[in-house]
Amino acid sequence: MTQTASNIDFNRQDGNEELWYQVFQVGHPVLAKKQKRYQMLPGSPRCHLCYAPMGGLGGWVMRFAKLHPSARNPNYCNACDGFLEAFPGGADVELSMLFCDLRGSVELSSKMTPRDFTQLIMRMRAIVLEKLWKHDGFVLQFQGDSVIGVWPPGFAGPDHAQKAVAAAKDIAHALAEERAKEQEIPAGIGVHTDTVYLCTVASANGALQEISAFGEGVNLAARLSAVAGAGEVFLSEAVIAAAGLVEQGISVQDYTLKGIDRHVRAARLNK
Ligand SMILES: [Zn+2]
Repeated sequence: MTQTASNIDFNRQDGNEELWYQVFQVGHPVLAKKQKRYQMLPGSPRCHLCYAPMGGLGGWVMRFAKLHPSARNPNYCNACDGFLEAFPGGADVELSMLFCDLRGSVELSSKMTPRDFTQLIMRMRAIVLEKLWKHDGFVLQFQGDSVIGVWPPGFAGPDHAQKAVAAAKDIAHALAEERAKEQEIPAGIGVHTDTVYLCTVASANGALQEISAFGEGVNLAARLSAVAGAGEVFLSEAVIAAAGLVEQGISVQDYTLKGIDRHVRAARLNK
């Protein structure tokens, strides 16, 4: 399977379509309420689904509500991990997504010690993660040297495309600042809006459950980030339209993306 956490094979799960459509596309009242409440509390990391802080002061408070990082899946709290296990499945959801991908990672890793290269990846992840949280993005996963964020309307609201574009700009800005401070993090960013299948996935032995996205739109966003040079942001025509940026004189061109058998109209955002 593709688009999964590094080094683990996950299988896509089907079922509970109405429930997941409500969670991701419409917004589930119980989950939305939790997300709002938990966002007010400080602390990181956070549960990827309900946003409960797992560390810091917020994490300490959460212990009283019997919430803690799930032992089998530390990206989620124990309650959300139980939810993923109880309701495997997914739904087609129209959302915006962002790929941030390290450029020339093979060459980079050959010039650095494994420890320094790992630190570089960790710094990139930390920057992207912070900006995704800031702009209501949902951290889908870390995949080797790339980070994937999605904005399901059920979490991010109807202005998901604007938020994804704002996050992309913010990440590019933070990467540029990092260049001046420490070693450059040469990452490219791609943003796209499309209907994808967002669902739970389970590792082959069933020990771990995650949320992942499937469909051509996912590949398109990944390929778009690969076109972007270090520090650049590429927006697909679909996200430009969804974010209401058509009137802003962004010049869209045809691009040939690997593995996609048609031209894709996209634009490079001015720095
Ligand atoms: Zn949770």
